Amino acid sequence: MAYDQSNIFAKILRGEIPCDKVYEDEHVLAFRDINPQTPTHVLVIPKGAYESFDDFSSQASAEEIAGFVRAAGQIAREAGAVEAGYRILANNGPDALQEVPHFHLHIFAGKPLGRMIKPPEK
Ligand code: AMP
Repeated sequence: MAYDQSNIFAKILRGEIPCDKVYEDEHVLAFRDINPQTPTHVLVIPKGAYESFDDFSSQASAEEIAGFVRAAGQIAREAGAVEAGYRILANNGPDALQEVPHFHLHIFAGKPLGRMIKPPEK
């Protein structure tokens, strides 16, 4: 599938709509989620046009991937989330209900986060 240049994160990257920025470098932008699920809820995105984790992990350069991982760790550290703990998550495709077709990592922190996936009802 071709990358959709009209997605909301592409617009943020082009400066067409604002974001609550927490970090930026050559390859990475991070900003607060507009609908936070936890006291700290940051989205980390590569500046390159990658629609999903599958796309990013297979097509991005080693420098982009390393820079992205380093930046995500730094952002969590700077948010003061390391000691109490945090969760990183990336929704990929329809079964994961990925809403925005530009790869993004969620960082959740600031309260106990519970189980990652709810066990099935018995
Ligand atoms: P996902 O379901 O993993 O694709 O998550 C998309 C996330 O983007 C959701 O948590 C939304 O609240 C968030 N979001 C959508 N639009 C914006 C925006 N303009 N600024 C910040 N976060 C946004």
